[in-house]
Amino acid sequence: MEFIDLKAQYAHLEKEIDENIHNVLKHGKYISGPEVSQLEKELCDYTGTQYCVTCANGTDALQMALMALDIKHGDAVFVPSFTFMSTAEVVNLTGATPVFVDIDIDTFNMSPASLESAVQKISEEGKLNPKAVIPVDLFGQCADYPAILPIAKKYSLFVIEDAAQGFGGSINGKKACTFGDISATSFFPAKPLGCYGDGGAVFTDDEGLYKLLSSIHIHGKGSMKYDNVRLGLNSRLDTIQAAILLPKLREFPTELELRNKWAKLYTDLLKDIVKVPLVPKGFTSSWAQFTILLDSQEKRDELQTKLKEAGIPAMIYYYKPLHLQDVYKELGCAKGSLPNAEKAAECVLSLPMHPYMTSEQVKEITDKISVLVRD
Ligand SMILES: *Cc1c(COP(=O)(O)O)cnc(C)c1O
Repeated sequence: MEFIDLKAQYAHLEKEIDENIHNVLKHGKYISGPEVSQLEKELCDYTGTQYCVTCANGTDALQMALMALDIKHGDAVFVPSFTFMSTAEVVNLTGATPVFVDIDIDTFNMSPASLESAVQKISEEGKLNPKAVIPVDLFGQCADYPAILPIAKKYSLFVIEDAAQGFGGSINGKKACTFGDISATSFFPAKPLGCYGDGGAVFTDDEGLYKLLSSIHIHGKGSMKYDNVRLGLNSRLDTIQAAILLPKLREFPTELELRNKWAKLYTDLLKDIVKVPLVPKGFTSSWAQFTILLDSQEKRDELQTKLKEAGIPAMIYYYKPLHLQDVYKELGCAKGSLPNAEKAAECVLSLPMHPYMTSEQVKEITDKISVLVRD
Protein backbone atom coordinates (compact mmCIF):
# COMPACT_ATOMS: atom_id res chain seq x y z
CA MET A 1 0.00 0.00 0.00
CA GLU A 2 1.23 3.50 -0.85
CA PHE A 3 0.99 6.48 1.50
CA ILE A 4 0.30 8.79 -1.47
CA ASP A 5 -0.07 6.88 -4.74
CA LEU A 6 1.33 9.23 -7.38
CA LYS A 7 1.84 6.38 -9.85
CA ALA A 8 -1.88 5.56 -9.80
CA GLN A 9 -2.64 9.18 -10.65
CA TYR A 10 -0.13 9.10 -13.50
CA ALA A 11 -1.71 5.91 -14.86
CA HIS A 12 -5.08 7.71 -14.84
CA LEU A 13 -3.80 10.84 -16.66
CA GLU A 14 -0.96 9.25 -18.64
CA LYS A 15 -2.17 10.17 -22.12
CA GLU A 16 -2.73 13.89 -21.44
CA ILE A 17 0.44 14.26 -19.41
CA ASP A 18 2.64 12.49 -21.97
CA GLU A 19 1.17 14.56 -24.81
CA ASN A 20 1.75 17.80 -22.94
CA ILE A 21 5.35 16.91 -22.08
CA HIS A 22 6.06 16.01 -25.70
CA ASN A 23 4.58 19.28 -26.89
CA VAL A 24 7.05 21.17 -24.74
CA LEU A 25 9.96 19.04 -25.96
CA LYS A 26 8.93 19.92 -29.51
CA HIS A 27 8.21 23.65 -29.17
CA GLY A 28 11.40 24.14 -27.19
CA LYS A 29 10.33 27.04 -24.94
CA TYR A 30 11.60 25.29 -21.82
CA ILE A 31 11.59 28.45 -19.70
CA SER A 32 8.52 30.75 -19.55
CA GLY A 33 6.78 28.82 -22.33
CA PRO A 34 3.08 29.27 -23.18
CA GLU A 35 2.00 26.51 -20.75
CA VAL A 36 3.23 28.67 -17.85
CA SER A 37 0.94 31.62 -18.58
CA GLN A 38 -1.92 29.24 -19.43
CA LEU A 39 -1.48 27.55 -16.03
CA GLU A 40 -1.35 30.91 -14.22
CA LYS A 41 -4.63 31.88 -15.86
CA GLU A 42 -6.30 28.57 -14.94
CA LEU A 43 -4.99 28.80 -11.37
CA CYS A 44 -6.58 32.25 -11.06
CA ASP A 45 -9.87 30.87 -12.42
CA TYR A 46 -9.81 27.92 -10.05
CA THR A 47 -8.96 29.86 -6.89
CA GLY A 48 -10.89 33.02 -7.75
CA THR A 49 -7.89 35.34 -7.54
CA GLN A 50 -6.92 38.22 -9.83
CA TYR A 51 -3.22 37.46 -10.23
CA CYS A 52 -0.91 34.47 -10.06
CA VAL A 53 2.86 34.20 -10.48
CA THR A 54 4.26 30.67 -10.66
CA CYS A 55 7.73 30.04 -9.26
CA ALA A 56 10.29 27.34 -8.50
CA ASN A 57 8.86 25.96 -5.22
CA GLY A 58 6.60 26.77 -2.28
CA THR A 59 9.45 28.03 -0.13
CA ASP A 60 10.39 30.62 -2.77
CA ALA A 61 6.70 31.54 -3.05
CA LEU A 62 6.69 32.43 0.66
CA GLN A 63 9.99 34.27 0.40
CA MET A 64 8.80 36.26 -2.63
CA ALA A 65 5.72 37.27 -0.64
CA LEU A 66 7.86 38.54 2.26
CA MET A 67 10.17 40.41 -0.14
CA ALA A 68 7.23 42.03 -1.96
CA LEU A 69 5.85 43.22 1.39
CA ASP A 70 9.29 44.61 2.29
CA ILE A 71 9.63 42.51 5.45
CA LYS A 72 13.12 43.03 6.87
CA HIS A 73 15.48 43.13 9.84
CA GLY A 74 13.68 44.35 12.96
CA ASP A 75 10.29 43.01 11.88
CA ALA A 76 8.41 40.30 13.75
CA VAL A 77 6.51 37.74 11.67
CA PHE A 78 4.07 35.47 13.54
CA VAL A 79 4.07 31.82 12.47
CA PRO A 80 2.54 28.68 13.94
CA SER A 81 5.11 26.40 15.55
CA PHE A 82 3.48 23.23 14.24
CA THR A 83 4.32 23.43 10.53
CA PHE A 84 7.01 22.58 8.00
CA MET A 85 10.32 24.43 8.36
CA SER A 86 9.77 26.61 5.26
CA THR A 87 7.11 28.74 6.95
CA ALA A 88 9.62 30.09 9.48
CA GLU A 89 12.87 29.71 7.53
CA VAL A 90 11.90 32.31 4.92
CA VAL A 91 11.31 34.86 7.70
CA ASN A 92 14.93 34.52 8.80
CA LEU A 93 16.14 34.64 5.20
CA THR A 94 14.64 38.13 4.84
CA GLY A 95 16.42 39.20 8.05
CA ALA A 96 13.21 39.40 10.09
CA THR A 97 12.46 37.36 13.23
CA PRO A 98 9.86 34.57 13.44
CA VAL A 99 7.66 34.62 16.54
CA PHE A 100 6.14 31.23 17.22
CA VAL A 101 2.44 30.92 18.01
CA ASP A 102 0.54 27.93 19.40
CA ILE A 103 -2.13 25.94 17.56
CA ASP A 104 -5.66 24.76 18.35
CA ILE A 105 -5.33 21.05 18.99
CA ASP A 106 -8.64 20.21 17.24
CA THR A 107 -7.62 21.60 13.85
CA PHE A 108 -3.78 21.70 14.21
CA ASN A 109 -3.98 25.27 12.86
CA MET A 110 -2.81 28.58 14.34
CA SER A 111 -4.69 29.59 17.48
CA PRO A 112 -6.13 33.11 17.01
CA ALA A 113 -5.97 33.70 20.79
CA SER A 114 -2.31 32.69 20.90
CA LEU A 115 -1.63 34.97 17.92
CA GLU A 116 -3.19 37.97 19.62
CA SER A 117 -1.29 37.47 22.87
CA ALA A 118 1.98 37.04 20.95
CA VAL A 119 1.39 40.29 19.06
CA GLN A 120 0.62 42.13 22.31
CA LYS A 121 3.73 40.72 23.99
CA ILE A 122 6.00 41.78 21.10
CA SER A 123 4.42 45.25 21.03
CA GLU A 124 4.94 45.67 24.77
CA GLU A 125 8.57 44.53 24.61
CA GLY A 126 9.14 47.15 21.92
CA LYS A 127 12.19 45.46 20.37
CA LEU A 128 10.61 44.14 17.18
CA ASN A 129 8.04 45.71 14.88
CA PRO A 130 4.98 43.40 14.50
CA LYS A 131 4.66 43.30 10.74
CA ALA A 132 3.04 40.15 9.34
CA VAL A 133 1.42 36.83 10.14
CA ILE A 134 1.76 33.59 8.15
CA PRO A 135 -1.20 31.34 8.96
CA VAL A 136 -0.71 27.83 7.55
CA ASP A 137 -3.50 25.77 5.96
CA LEU A 138 -2.13 22.63 7.58
CA PHE A 139 -3.03 19.18 6.25
CA GLY A 140 -5.32 20.78 3.65
CA GLN A 141 -7.60 22.75 5.94
CA CYS A 142 -7.70 26.54 5.84
CA ALA A 143 -6.52 28.34 8.94
CA ASP A 144 -9.18 30.14 11.01
CA TYR A 145 -9.25 33.24 8.79
CA PRO A 146 -12.64 34.44 10.10
CA ALA A 147 -10.87 34.96 13.45
CA ILE A 148 -7.32 35.72 12.24
CA LEU A 149 -8.08 38.40 9.62
CA PRO A 150 -9.74 40.79 12.14
CA ILE A 151 -6.74 40.41 14.48
CA ALA A 152 -4.37 41.15 11.60
CA LYS A 153 -6.41 44.23 10.76
CA LYS A 154 -6.50 45.42 14.38
CA TYR A 155 -2.68 45.32 14.63
CA SER A 156 -1.97 46.33 10.99
CA LEU A 157 -0.30 43.03 10.11
CA PHE A 158 0.11 41.82 6.57
CA VAL A 159 -1.32 38.33 6.04
CA ILE A 160 0.64 35.78 4.01
CA GLU A 161 -1.36 32.60 3.57
CA ASP A 162 0.83 29.47 3.52
CA ALA A 163 -1.43 27.32 1.35
CA ALA A 164 1.35 24.86 0.41
CA GLN A 165 -0.90 22.07 1.70
CA GLY A 166 -4.15 23.99 1.46
CA PHE A 167 -4.78 24.25 -2.29
CA GLY A 168 -8.38 23.15 -2.87
CA GLY A 169 -9.67 23.82 0.65
CA SER A 170 -12.29 26.50 1.30
CA ILE A 171 -14.30 28.44 3.88
CA ASN A 172 -17.95 29.04 2.99
CA GLY A 173 -17.11 28.57 -0.68
CA LYS A 174 -14.15 30.99 -0.64
CA LYS A 175 -11.10 29.05 -1.73
CA ALA A 176 -7.65 28.68 -0.21
CA CYS A 177 -5.04 31.00 -1.79
CA THR A 178 -7.46 33.96 -1.46
CA PHE A 179 -7.07 34.78 2.23
CA GLY A 180 -3.70 36.53 2.30
CA ASP A 181 -2.56 39.90 1.01
CA ILE A 182 -0.37 37.39 -0.78
CA SER A 183 -0.99 33.62 -0.68
CA ALA A 184 1.61 30.99 -1.48
CA THR A 185 1.26 27.39 -2.58
CA SER A 186 3.55 24.49 -3.50
CA PHE A 187 3.42 21.93 -6.31
CA PHE A 188 5.83 19.52 -4.61
CA PRO A 189 4.72 16.05 -5.85
CA ALA A 190 3.01 14.99 -2.61
CA LYS A 191 0.93 18.19 -2.17
CA PRO A 192 -2.77 18.12 -3.14
CA LEU A 193 -1.85 19.57 -6.56
CA GLY A 194 1.67 18.34 -7.32
CA CYS A 195 3.95 18.33 -10.36
CA TYR A 196 6.88 15.98 -11.13
CA GLY A 197 9.55 18.00 -9.42
CA ASP A 198 9.52 21.30 -7.52
CA GLY A 199 7.08 24.08 -8.23
CA GLY A 200 5.08 26.81 -6.52
CA ALA A 201 2.93 29.89 -7.00
CA VAL A 202 1.85 33.12 -5.35
CA PHE A 203 -1.58 34.70 -5.60
CA THR A 204 -2.83 38.22 -4.93
CA ASP A 205 -5.67 40.57 -5.85
CA ASP A 206 -3.41 43.63 -5.59
CA GLU A 207 -2.01 44.81 -8.91
CA GLY A 208 0.92 46.60 -7.29
CA LEU A 209 1.96 43.48 -5.39
CA TYR A 210 1.51 41.40 -8.56
CA LYS A 211 3.95 43.67 -10.40
CA LEU A 212 6.46 43.39 -7.56
CA LEU A 213 6.14 39.59 -7.43
CA SER A 214 6.56 39.33 -11.21
CA SER A 215 9.77 41.34 -10.93
CA ILE A 216 11.13 39.56 -7.86
CA HIS A 217 10.84 36.07 -9.34
CA ILE A 218 13.09 37.04 -12.27
CA HIS A 219 16.08 38.77 -10.62
CA GLY A 220 14.19 41.97 -9.80
CA LYS A 221 13.65 42.74 -13.45
CA GLY A 222 12.37 46.12 -14.66
CA SER A 223 11.28 46.39 -18.28
CA MET A 224 13.16 43.17 -19.09
CA LYS A 225 15.49 40.58 -17.61
CA TYR A 226 18.68 42.66 -18.12
CA ASP A 227 17.12 45.77 -16.59
CA ASN A 228 17.38 45.17 -12.83
CA VAL A 229 15.56 47.52 -10.50
CA ARG A 230 15.59 45.57 -7.21
CA LEU A 231 17.02 42.39 -5.72
CA GLY A 232 15.13 39.26 -6.64
CA LEU A 233 15.45 35.53 -7.12
CA ASN A 234 15.81 33.12 -9.99
CA SER A 235 12.52 31.38 -9.30
CA ARG A 236 10.47 30.18 -12.25
CA LEU A 237 8.25 27.17 -12.79
CA ASP A 238 9.70 25.05 -15.62
CA THR A 239 7.48 24.90 -18.71
CA ILE A 240 7.46 21.08 -18.50
CA GLN A 241 6.12 21.26 -14.95
CA ALA A 242 3.38 23.68 -16.05
CA ALA A 243 2.52 21.26 -18.88
CA ILE A 244 2.22 18.44 -16.33
CA LEU A 245 0.10 20.56 -13.98
CA LEU A 246 -2.47 21.59 -16.61
CA PRO A 247 -4.20 18.18 -16.95
CA LYS A 248 -3.76 17.58 -13.22
CA LEU A 249 -5.53 20.87 -12.41
CA ARG A 250 -8.39 19.97 -14.75
CA GLU A 251 -8.77 16.64 -12.93
CA PHE A 252 -8.37 18.25 -9.51
CA PRO A 253 -12.08 18.87 -8.71
CA THR A 254 -12.82 15.17 -9.26
CA GLU A 255 -9.82 14.17 -7.15
CA LEU A 256 -10.93 16.54 -4.41
CA GLU A 257 -14.31 14.82 -4.26
CA LEU A 258 -12.58 11.46 -3.96
CA ARG A 259 -10.29 12.68 -1.18
CA ASN A 260 -13.36 13.91 0.68
CA LYS A 261 -15.07 10.58 0.16
CA TRP A 262 -12.13 8.71 1.74
CA ALA A 263 -11.87 11.25 4.54
CA LYS A 264 -15.54 10.77 5.36
CA LEU A 265 -15.18 6.99 5.36
CA TYR A 266 -12.10 7.20 7.61
CA THR A 267 -13.99 9.54 9.95
CA ASP A 268 -17.09 7.32 10.13
CA LEU A 269 -15.03 4.22 10.84
CA LEU A 270 -12.55 5.77 13.28
CA LYS A 271 -14.46 8.43 15.20
CA ASP A 272 -15.27 6.17 18.17
CA ILE A 273 -11.74 4.77 18.32
CA VAL A 274 -9.29 7.67 17.98
CA LYS A 275 -9.47 11.45 17.69
CA VAL A 276 -10.22 12.27 14.03
CA PRO A 277 -9.67 15.67 12.34
CA LEU A 278 -12.23 18.36 13.11
CA VAL A 279 -13.55 20.23 10.07
CA PRO A 280 -15.36 23.30 11.43
CA LYS A 281 -18.72 24.28 9.98
CA GLY A 282 -18.37 25.98 6.58
CA PHE A 283 -14.83 24.63 6.04
CA THR A 284 -13.82 22.02 3.48
CA SER A 285 -10.40 20.37 3.42
CA SER A 286 -8.28 19.22 0.50
CA TRP A 287 -6.95 16.45 2.79
CA ALA A 288 -3.27 16.88 2.09
CA GLN A 289 -3.11 14.56 5.12
CA PHE A 290 -5.64 12.63 7.15
CA THR A 291 -4.18 12.97 10.63
CA ILE A 292 -5.39 11.28 13.79
CA LEU A 293 -4.38 12.13 17.36
CA LEU A 294 -3.47 9.39 19.84
CA ASP A 295 -3.47 9.65 23.64
CA SER A 296 0.29 9.58 24.09
CA GLN A 297 3.59 9.44 22.25
CA GLU A 298 4.10 5.77 23.23
CA LYS A 299 0.69 4.81 21.82
CA ARG A 300 1.34 6.79 18.65
CA ASP A 301 4.78 5.30 18.07
CA GLU A 302 3.53 1.80 18.79
CA LEU A 303 0.60 2.18 16.37
CA GLN A 304 2.92 3.45 13.63
CA THR A 305 5.26 0.47 14.12
CA LYS A 306 2.47 -2.10 14.14
CA LEU A 307 0.81 -0.60 11.05
CA LYS A 308 4.15 -0.73 9.29
CA GLU A 309 4.48 -4.41 10.20
CA ALA A 310 1.07 -4.93 8.60
CA GLY A 311 2.24 -3.21 5.40
CA ILE A 312 0.40 0.06 6.06
CA PRO A 313 2.55 3.21 5.84
CA ALA A 314 1.67 5.94 8.35
CA MET A 315 3.75 9.09 8.77
CA ILE A 316 4.47 11.63 11.49
CA TYR A 317 4.08 15.26 10.43
CA TYR A 318 5.79 16.75 12.44
CA TYR A 319 8.07 15.16 15.06
CA LYS A 320 9.27 18.42 16.53
CA PRO A 321 7.53 21.78 16.73
CA LEU A 322 9.69 24.53 15.24
CA HIS A 323 10.10 26.46 18.50
CA LEU A 324 12.01 23.45 19.91
CA GLN A 325 14.23 22.88 16.85
CA ASP A 326 17.97 23.32 17.42
CA VAL A 327 18.18 26.00 14.75
CA TYR A 328 15.82 28.18 16.82
CA LYS A 329 17.54 27.59 20.18
CA GLU A 330 18.68 31.20 20.39
CA LEU A 331 15.06 32.41 20.41
CA GLY A 332 14.91 30.83 23.87
CA CYS A 333 11.50 29.11 23.66
CA ALA A 334 11.24 26.69 26.58
CA LYS A 335 9.67 23.25 26.42
CA GLY A 336 6.08 23.71 27.60
CA SER A 337 5.79 27.22 26.16
CA LEU A 338 3.48 26.18 23.28
CA PRO A 339 1.73 23.14 24.77
CA ASN A 340 -0.64 22.29 21.91
CA ALA A 341 2.10 22.34 19.28
CA GLU A 342 4.15 20.06 21.53
CA LYS A 343 1.25 17.72 22.16
CA ALA A 344 0.49 17.47 18.44
CA ALA A 345 4.12 16.61 17.67
CA GLU A 346 3.98 13.80 20.22
CA CYS A 347 0.60 12.32 19.31
CA VAL A 348 -0.19 12.84 15.57
CA LEU A 349 -0.19 10.12 12.95
CA SER A 350 -1.09 10.66 9.28
CA LEU A 351 -2.76 7.79 7.41
CA PRO A 352 -2.55 6.94 3.69
CA MET A 353 -4.59 9.51 1.74
CA HIS A 354 -4.92 10.10 -2.00
CA PRO A 355 -7.75 10.12 -4.56
CA TYR A 356 -7.00 6.66 -5.95
CA MET A 357 -7.59 4.68 -2.73
CA THR A 358 -10.34 2.07 -2.50
CA SER A 359 -12.94 1.56 0.22
CA GLU A 360 -11.37 -1.87 0.83
CA GLN A 361 -8.06 -0.17 1.62
CA VAL A 362 -9.66 2.35 3.98
CA LYS A 363 -11.48 -0.49 5.74
CA GLU A 364 -8.31 -2.57 5.98
CA ILE A 365 -6.53 0.38 7.62
CA THR A 366 -9.35 1.25 10.01
CA ASP A 367 -9.90 -2.41 10.97
CA LYS A 368 -6.20 -2.71 11.85
CA ILE A 369 -6.31 0.49 13.86
CA SER A 370 -9.39 -0.62 15.85
CA VAL A 371 -7.70 -3.89 16.79
CA LEU A 372 -4.37 -2.25 17.65
CA VAL A 373 -5.82 0.66 19.65
CA ARG A 374 -8.12 -1.60 21.68
CA ASP A 375 -5.36 -4.11 22.51
C1 LIG B 1 5.68 21.90 1.52
C2 LIG B 1 5.49 23.09 2.35
C3 LIG B 1 6.16 24.30 2.08
C4 LIG B 1 7.26 24.44 1.07
O1 LIG B 1 7.00 24.00 -0.21
P1 LIG B 1 8.21 23.51 -1.15
O2 LIG B 1 7.59 23.49 -2.50
O3 LIG B 1 8.62 22.17 -0.66
O4 LIG B 1 9.31 24.50 -1.04
C5 LIG B 1 5.85 25.41 2.85
N1 LIG B 1 4.95 25.34 3.85
C6 LIG B 1 4.31 24.19 4.15
C7 LIG B 1 3.30 24.19 5.25
C8 LIG B 1 4.57 23.03 3.42
O5 LIG B 1 3.92 21.90 3.74
